[in-house]
Amino acid sequence: MAGFTHLFIPGPTNIPEQVRQAMNLPMEDMRAGSFPDFTLPLFEDIKRVFKNETGRVFIYPSSGTGAWEAAMTNVLSPGDRVLMSRFGQFSHLWVDMAERLGFDVEVIDCEWGTGVPLDLYAERLKADKAHRIKAIFCTQNETATGVTSDVAGCRAALDASNHPALLFVDGVSSIGSIDFRQEEWGVDCAVSGSQKGFMLPAGLGFLSVSKKALAASRTATHRRCFFSFEDMIRANDAGYFPYTPATQLLRGLRASLDLIAEEGLDAIFARHHRLGEGVRKAVDAWGLKLCAKAPEWHSDTVSAILVPEGIDSGDVVKRAYQKYQTSLGGGLNKVFGKVFRIGHLGWLNEVMVCASLSAAEMALLDCGVRLAPGAGVGAAMKHFRDSGEMLVAKA
Ligand code: PLP
Repeated sequence: MAGFTHLFIPGPTNIPEQVRQAMNLPMEDMRAGSFPDFTLPLFEDIKRVFKNETGRVFIYPSSGTGAWEAAMTNVLSPGDRVLMSRFGQFSHLWVDMAERLGFDVEVIDCEWGTGVPLDLYAERLKADKAHRIKAIFCTQNETATGVTSDVAGCRAALDASNHPALLFVDGVSSIGSIDFRQEEWGVDCAVSGSQKGFMLPAGLGFLSVSKKALAASRTATHRRCFFSFEDMIRANDAGYFPYTPATQLLRGLRASLDLIAEEGLDAIFARHHRLGEGVRKAVDAWGLKLCAKAPEWHSDTVSAILVPEGIDSGDVVKRAYQKYQTSLGGGLNKVFGKVFRIGHLGWLNEVMVCASLSAAEMALLDCGVRLAPGAGVGAAMKHFRDSGEMLVAKA
């Protein structure tokens, strides 16, 4: 087929040319004397994306799921009570992992389309006078439903009851794309991965930890090996890894951190908000609804869009791919067949978002959804024209 195949799934995302080129280099010696000159600044610079000033970031050769496991097995002990909430496929998988690793999981099930229930977290923490809860968990951006939760609100719930529990955040589809402030919000373990806001291929798991989490890991007794903080710290402090690092991906990470610094985190967050708003205007114009139940939950990185009764969202995704060479995300688990997703994160701009909306619109029409052709794309175009300068074209 001629032309690009367009990628608008919520990760892996599109890779900037500078990042792709930075990874196109011969294999290098990861035990060379000069390797720390490359890695030590990398360890420092990635902390800025997490806004982690006093802790450290571990870079694992894994996907985000590995960083989840690293967080739990290093910082907690078997049987520890943890407070979690489940409202989508990824928060579901995190609960599942916690149960399988042998923690005592207190899980609050919420309606899909909502997020972390702050009032219930506050209630449970207040009632836990004996401080049996060792950690609370927050999926900052539930990628399956396009729902963003309030991490600062989780910190406030802990502080309101003077509770010492650690705060774990899944930022796989949010960190580097929407506001995140580890130090200010007192986040102890923040997990992310390379293939979303960091604009890299999959293959690196990031775990940014606070001093408090590092201290907890010294006495925590869960078994760990590959993900051991201790092994990583010993090697990382000298600029090396305890096993063969994914050097090409690390070179790509250097380029991606440089691009993030050049644009600036505030500008990146503003761009994601603007692009997300454009998609939401299109959804309104189509007469459709988001899976996210209210504006407070709207995600600036991914929109999960409900299709009308009688339409299978899987057909929309299939049609977009087969006829229009465009990958959209499908519905997962409870929302299977009910939503399709547009990923609007990472390296993208207004015109790319318009392309995703055109493909979605044509596929919706082909699948029998009644809407005025051009309505959604038109609404997004109007929003982009009315809401400031194009961010990419510097004449
Ligand atoms: N958490 C969230 C919110 C995600 O979106 C994903 C993947 O899409 C994961 C965790 C799992 O990450 P990975 O697929 O990199 O292991």
